Amino acid sequence: MIIPGANRRTVRIKLPHSSLYVVPSVIVLVWIGFFVTIYLMNTYFHKTTSSMQQSFDGQERQLVDQITLKNSELEQLQNNLIDLSQQTDEFKAKLEEIKKLEHVVQLMSQTGGTSKISAASNSGSFSGTGSDVGGTEVPVNSQEVSQLVSSTKQDLSSLVGDINALLANLTESEAKLKEAERLRNITPTLWPTDSRNITSGFGIRKDPFTQKPTMHTGLDLDGELNDAVYVTAAGKVVQAGYDNQHGYHIIVDHTRGLRTVYMHLNKMLVKRGESVTKGQKIGLMGTTGRSTGTHLHYEVHKNGVEINPSPYLIQDRKDDR
Ligand SMILES: [Zn+2]
Repeated sequence: MIIPGANRRTVRIKLPHSSLYVVPSVIVLVWIGFFVTIYLMNTYFHKTTSSMQQSFDGQERQLVDQITLKNSELEQLQNNLIDLSQQTDEFKAKLEEIKKLEHVVQLMSQTGGTSKISAASNSGSFSGTGSDVGGTEVPVNSQEVSQLVSSTKQDLSSLVGDINALLANLTESEAKLKEAERLRNITPTLWPTDSRNITSGFGIRKDPFTQKPTMHTGLDLDGELNDAVYVTAAGKVVQAGYDNQHGYHIIVDHTRGLRTVYMHLNKMLVKRGESVTKGQKIGLMGTTGRSTGTHLHYEVHKNGVEINPSPYLIQDRKDDR
């Protein structure tokens, strides 16, 4: 029964007896449901947040790891660069030594030419790669690193230029040395006998037979019968024969208009047409032909004219055969 006020009608509601238990039970169940829902939602959100946090933590750790790795790689690269720069300096020093050698080679080949290699490559080395050890260690910045990169690149490119010039010079020197060696081989610079005793020189003298002034067109070298006679340069035997004037005699052609003649031999050891090497034993000393005693009459002809052989005799056969 509900009584709203004095002037209003009393409301009468009739409820079944069971509603006394059902209504409160429903209310309690609704409340329990509400709290359970709140609890579950709370747990769910907490779980989600914590897994997101974990995921973020993982990603951050990965990033830190990557940055650490990149940093160490960068440091390694910088160290490599410093090594390279040092090696470049060492290489430059070696190249300087080679250049000095090359100069010696040039002198040897008597080119007299000037080196094509510039001296400019000596400058502009990065000072940080010197041999100073200790002091304060200051980490390099990117500007310094790029400076080192650029100076090392410059050094290397200048070195490549130097090496190319050096190779060209050496090739030229080698060719000149080979040519000098070839000329030396075909120029009659040896003594034709072991004896160095010149009994009659080149020029006007009294003829030993007629006692009249005559031109002596070669050198007379003293010696014993059957002493060795050596050809004084490489060449080809163009004559090996006998006549009353020259006795057994050999003529060797050395090209370039040069010929050498060996007279009054006791025996000839080569034949016409034979090639001979410088210093080869070609005959034995004797006194055949128009001769007063055992000796070698040696001549050098240039373009068919007898010339003084003495200036040619600059090498010792025993040292250079
Ligand atoms: Zn003579």
